[in-house]
Amino acid sequence: MEIISNRVRNMAASETLAMTQTARELKEAGKDVISLSIGEPDFNTPEEVKEAAKQAIDENWTHYPPVPGYPELKKAICAKFKRDNNLDYTPDQIIVSTGAKQSIYQVVMALVNPDDEVIIPAPFWVSYKAIVQLAEGKSVYIQTKIENDFKVTPEQLRAAITPKTKMMIFSSPSNPTGMLYSHDELKALAEVLRDYPNIFVVADEIYEHINFEGKHESMAQFDWMKERTITVNGVAKGFAMTGWRIGFIGAPVAIAKACNKLQGQVTSATCSIAQRATIKAMEMDPKTSKDIIEMRNIFMKRRDMVFELLQQVPGFKVRLPKGAFYFFPEVSSLYGKNVPADSAFAQKYGKTKIENSTDFCMYILYDANVALVMGSAFGDDKCVRLSYATSEDKLREAVKRIKTAVENMK
Ligand code: GLU
Repeated sequence: MEIISNRVRNMAASETLAMTQTARELKEAGKDVISLSIGEPDFNTPEEVKEAAKQAIDENWTHYPPVPGYPELKKAICAKFKRDNNLDYTPDQIIVSTGAKQSIYQVVMALVNPDDEVIIPAPFWVSYKAIVQLAEGKSVYIQTKIENDFKVTPEQLRAAITPKTKMMIFSSPSNPTGMLYSHDELKALAEVLRDYPNIFVVADEIYEHINFEGKHESMAQFDWMKERTITVNGVAKGFAMTGWRIGFIGAPVAIAKACNKLQGQVTSATCSIAQRATIKAMEMDPKTSKDIIEMRNIFMKRRDMVFELLQQVPGFKVRLPKGAFYFFPEVSSLYGKNVPADSAFAQKYGKTKIENSTDFCMYILYDANVALVMGSAFGDDKCVRLSYATSEDKLREAVKRIKTAVENMK
């Protein structure tokens, strides 16, 4: 008899976290590994947010918070939605959770019945697939192409819809591709959905503030979509607050209530201190906040540098990302090539041929000591993901190592 449930045994572990852990272990074993695997800003949380947390401890905000979040925080989130996205939400439409990941998990659990179909444009963020699987839903992938900046066309969306479609989940700016939908592109998708009033959309907007093109576009801005869009956001990426674990949704009241009910049985609420600090973060206007603007400018500078460097790596097909902090180069032209027989990869796996994105990432990890994430984890085995949320020096060195390793493939 199996001890572990089928549910958990059949679920894939998070590959972004697994690669990060492997890189950590190699580092601990004395290897000089540069980790470009996890998507985590290398900046510190803004001072005023940290001060608010210290004050919260001193003021004894240490008891159970209300399940959906403190009223002051929910009000601050409503003000943020209005200020940044021109979206009108009331506090009863807001649920604050332990990271955007939990927010998405709860929404999917609250809406998806077994065998309901969930449309997920690929490449997608790793956890969408696992979460739908846990809800016993069926993921329906729409494969996009690098030539189209990995964006879904209205025709593709229409073709993927069936009477069983319950939901679509997507992120813009996108993890893992760094691409984003313009107003017109998003509107064209919304126009298709206008014909299917029973389909809900989970709009993952966690990379909102890391946008190099200008205005962020929300699915909920289209009036016929507002009542069936769940807008997901949080503080991890835009405010360098990954460890604080705060995500939130703006949703139709019935859905917010269902998520609240679920959260009450799962985590009770999220951390009181992190919530008090997040009120401060919500008050920071991205149009004027020095911290947010500076972080974005630094990310943009790194993006431009890495774009130049990656184009010099043989076999890499690269597009210029417009947001987030990832490159998602296509490397499949290197599949079928052989790595040196004396390489660490060949020793470890007993073969020299690179056949897919996992082989490629493992070769780069063990022989170039650079941690990437295999595209297969995101639903596109032709590509690999590289996070540039690290210093310019490390990025330059990492791409140099990757280039040398690729040049050694025959
Ligand atoms: N979202 C980040 C990433 O994609 C953090 C790790 C995770 O939760 O997947 O790297």
